[in-house]
Amino acid sequence: MTSEQWLQLRVAWFLTFRERKGREPQCAVCDKPLTLRSAHLHHVAYDRFGGKERFEDLMPFCPADHELLHGVFDRSSGYQRMSRRAATLQLVSRLRRLRSSAPATNDHG
Ligand SMILES: [Zn+2]
Ligand SMILES: [Zn+2]
Repeated sequence: MTSEQWLQLRVAWFLTFRERKGREPQCAVCDKPLTLRSAHLHHVAYDRFGGKERFEDLMPFCPADHELLHGVFDRSSGYQRMSRRAATLQLVSRLRRLRSSAPATNDHG
């Protein structure tokens, strides 16, 4: 997939999100509002990877949480054995719990 195709896919994804939800996308972990420029779209399914992705194949994250998610996911054989969608959902709820228990001043730590 070229970067141009990926950009088009992101634009289409954003339009679909606004249409369906009537608001801007937010990070799945920290609820930070995302823009086309700042959002990372994570693949929760690779079945249609390469430009044929459906709306529900992608999940929005801020760059920091996307990195954090992959930091755990890519190194964990347990998560690798699960379906990508199930692993992502579990990781999201784990990261959300971590976030909500962390002190607010730890944002940049
Ligand atoms: Zn986030
Ligand atoms: Zn990802």
